[in-house]
Amino acid sequence: MLLREACGVFGVFDFGGRPVFPFIYWGLISQNHRGHHSYGFTGLDEDFVSHRSLGIIPPMRHPVIKRLFKRLRGNVGIGHVRYATSGRDTQYWLLRDIQPLVMSDSENKVALAFNGNLVNVKQLRSELRRRGRGSFHSSSDVELLGGVLLCGLRRSDLSSAVEGCMRTIEGAFSVVGLTRGGELFAFRDPLGIKPLCYGCSQDNQMFAVSSESVGLDINDFRYESEVQPGELLVWSKDGMRRETIVECRRRAFCSFEFAYFARPDSILGHGQPVYKIRETFGRNLAREDPDIWRRVDVIVSIPATGDDAAYGLHEESGIPWERAIRRHRYVVDRAFISDQRERETIISKKINVKEAIKGKRIAVVEDSIVRGDTSRKIVKKLRRAGAKEIHMYFTFPRIISPCFYGIDMATFGELIGSQHTEEEIAKLIGADSVHYQSLRNFVRATGMSEDELCLGCLTGKYPTPSAQKLADEMRKRFEAGEIEMGRIYEVA
Ligand code: SF4
Repeated sequence: MLLREACGVFGVFDFGGRPVFPFIYWGLISQNHRGHHSYGFTGLDEDFVSHRSLGIIPPMRHPVIKRLFKRLRGNVGIGHVRYATSGRDTQYWLLRDIQPLVMSDSENKVALAFNGNLVNVKQLRSELRRRGRGSFHSSSDVELLGGVLLCGLRRSDLSSAVEGCMRTIEGAFSVVGLTRGGELFAFRDPLGIKPLCYGCSQDNQMFAVSSESVGLDINDFRYESEVQPGELLVWSKDGMRRETIVECRRRAFCSFEFAYFARPDSILGHGQPVYKIRETFGRNLAREDPDIWRRVDVIVSIPATGDDAAYGLHEESGIPWERAIRRHRYVVDRAFISDQRERETIISKKINVKEAIKGKRIAVVEDSIVRGDTSRKIVKKLRRAGAKEIHMYFTFPRIISPCFYGIDMATFGELIGSQHTEEEIAKLIGADSVHYQSLRNFVRATGMSEDELCLGCLTGKYPTPSAQKLADEMRKRFEAGEIEMGRIYEVA
């Protein structure tokens, strides 16, 4: 499955005064899977010092990175990797939209980076215009978020400014930021849609905030906890402060993180490693299809997000798991994938199929099917390699509705699952059958309840009112046969 996902953030504060750039660098390297369009670092010395660039983060020996080790000497900093799921995706705008974004007014200056997507963009833009922040220099949501924050800071302190963000902004936002006074702060929307956690170095001198816990692991930091929905954390020379800004009435954690986005070795939800959850997904697929062993000789998986579920399916069913599909390791270029043809080329270059499946009836374990183009290509490759029958098993239940919180699936028309039954999907992608994990078992495997997860793209029921309204209007238009506009939720 090939999707643009929506960013990774990392921030560090060192009470010992040491330069934090190396920690940010590694924290983002471990999360580069969350964004290939661009990356950026901002540290604080006397003033903010930034480096922002398109593409993936270069290796440590690259001259740019070597220079940054010398340039970014401050004891506090943040970083960001980005996939553009909001804003415009021409080179010009991608450059302008790189985060962290440094924003200021006559009194305050902040650097911000965030993971998520804002839904009530139109309303926020007019509100900011009304307050005299009417000119926008980027096409990214982060500028709106920063605008609301700066308006709040002009009137009050950081806690109240963050409260202003949480009360006026609808959508997903896991944020890290710096103030000119040298504070590192992090906050998360009151539904906790996107992940954000924090941890501490072994000598208790450094604290880090990260989208995924692997950012802490790579730095040998201890995982402390999630940043709770509606919570603000601040580190400054005076110590650490943790505040509940807005009470979390219900959580709505993105369920897609479990199936696809997060690294398997990250900890999500109530503290389980993702790979264990994915193994359970595979076991569920076997339990839900007890006759699988009659139809299938061998299990294969689409690396890497299908691997753990394939192991679970293999354990539960007793069917051999053949690692016949491998990934071309250095085909990582998912940036600027904007048209169908380009996407298909990338898919085709990404995986390699070995002939061990020749003459076999195979079960293919994959995380999800969104548009169907990836699966179609994979099935074609497997047929060419001689597979006799191909049965597709998806761990993520059928996607029937768009996402408004930062995942690149914006219209009903592009979603194969919104228009077709399993039998029809099998035909369309050229497989012999298609199986989805049931929603009930999926939810149970995550260790969270339905009321703690966002299941909007699976059920059409969204945790925020504007997203629900947009989805209902879009569905009506789609069913009436009208042409949908991509990323319609951003139209101002
Ligand atoms: S709609 Fe789907 S992809 Fe979007 S946040 Fe909710 S669960 Fe995640």
